[in-house]
Amino acid sequence: MKIAMIGSGYVGLVSGACFADFGHTVVCIDKAEGKIEALNRGEIPIFEPGLDALVAENVKAGRLSFTTEFSGPVSEADVVFIAVGTPSRRGDGHADLSYVYAAAREIAESVKGFTIVVTKSTVPVGTGDEVERIMRETRPDADIAVVSNPEFLREGAAISDFKRPDRIVVGIEDERAREVMTEVYRPLYLNQLPLLFTTRRTSELIKYAANAFLAMKITFINEIADLCEKVGADVQQISRGIGLDGRIGSKFLHAGPGYGGSCFPKDTLALVKTAQDNDSPVRLIETTIAINDTRKRAMARKVINALNGDVRGKKIAILGLTFKPETDDMRDAPSISIIQALQDGGARIFAYDPEGMEASKAILDNVTYGNSPYDIAEGAEAVVIVTEWNQFRALDFQRLKSVMAKPLLVDLRNVYTPDEVKRHGLAYASIGRGTSA
Ligand code: NAD
Repeated sequence: MKIAMIGSGYVGLVSGACFADFGHTVVCIDKAEGKIEALNRGEIPIFEPGLDALVAENVKAGRLSFTTEFSGPVSEADVVFIAVGTPSRRGDGHADLSYVYAAAREIAESVKGFTIVVTKSTVPVGTGDEVERIMRETRPDADIAVVSNPEFLREGAAISDFKRPDRIVVGIEDERAREVMTEVYRPLYLNQLPLLFTTRRTSELIKYAANAFLAMKITFINEIADLCEKVGADVQQISRGIGLDGRIGSKFLHAGPGYGGSCFPKDTLALVKTAQDNDSPVRLIETTIAINDTRKRAMARKVINALNGDVRGKKIAILGLTFKPETDDMRDAPSISIIQALQDGGARIFAYDPEGMEASKAILDNVTYGNSPYDIAEGAEAVVIVTEWNQFRALDFQRLKSVMAKPLLVDLRNVYTPDEVKRHGLAYASIGRGTSA
């Protein structure tokens, strides 16, 4: 199959490289010239484990290439994927579909012969109808089928998620698309992974329902964690105690500083807006958003309380900036609100992240970056774990203690147990462990 992938970001680049690895011929297209130039020099513009090798192999095999030009690759493609961004629209929180619609117009101008146009971007229910309308208006003669195929990969584990997904959801309105989409995902289909065909609108809504449910699950355990702190219970054991129930499941029950990232915040908000517009409000999700929004600054208050209510002039070392480990993505990371709230209290912020510091520099002011946890802990009155990178899971506590002004570890990811930290002579605060921390 010949595939054109419009948008070469976290989703487009990973999907494009994986489709090429399945044996398809893929051209990744992006408007950002710098990104395409870098890819053509063999550089990967984002950090995603394993992506550099996968891209290099498939480029070498002649199955994967990069360009800023639409016309050639789109006219030759059997399938064109749209994987451009759909951020929150400034002001009202609806999904900003301008990139999707711009891509639809450009695709329409170039398609030749029967072509499947697939929206992989996360888009509100009904967007496929509008993409189809725009394309038919631009090119009344074009023979197209517009399909929805939302992506469920997680940054940091994107390649294995793409190659071994729990399910593939495909929403179609034109029966001709069924065979082509089955062919696109053939290697996964042969491995008996569930390929769920449904209508386009249902498919679009599945993606939002999935993300909203996961965001709600995280928020649920975060509130239980707060209650644990008040009543002297341990949220880690509660997660285990409820997660072993097959109806609940153990995943997404880790209490922490609140969800962030490029998907949950914007997708929950967009679902709320769609639901309100359709006179069918999703109040559970409205509440989830409100709870999560206040949680991040509450995490800063946790740090301030651990420092006896005053951080003015104090040096605080932040370990981890990205919204989760194994990515360089800083979009809506909890670290942003936490750091800003600490700065509002007068703290001096030093930070270290294995991959996120470049992106962080464009977002946060007045932060001093260091080369290691020990580097930034020098003279600090608190070390705060915000993102649970593996290299923060085995900190040398003696070394930390020896360089810090006062030995205090605030662990917003419950990486450690209170006993092991206290044994090394550091004060310790964590999430939802009312019994001991
Ligand atoms: P991204 O910002 O990393 O990438 C989007 C790319 O599209 C950018 O490189 C941009 O230059 C390019 N682009 C924008 N308009 C274009 C146009 N008209 N023509 C060509 N290129 C254009 O975004 P992302 O994280 O890859 O997300 C893409 C979509 O996938 C979003 O809808 C997102 O919600 C969804 N999604 C993301 C993830 C994730 O983990 N990042 C997971 C599942 C779904």
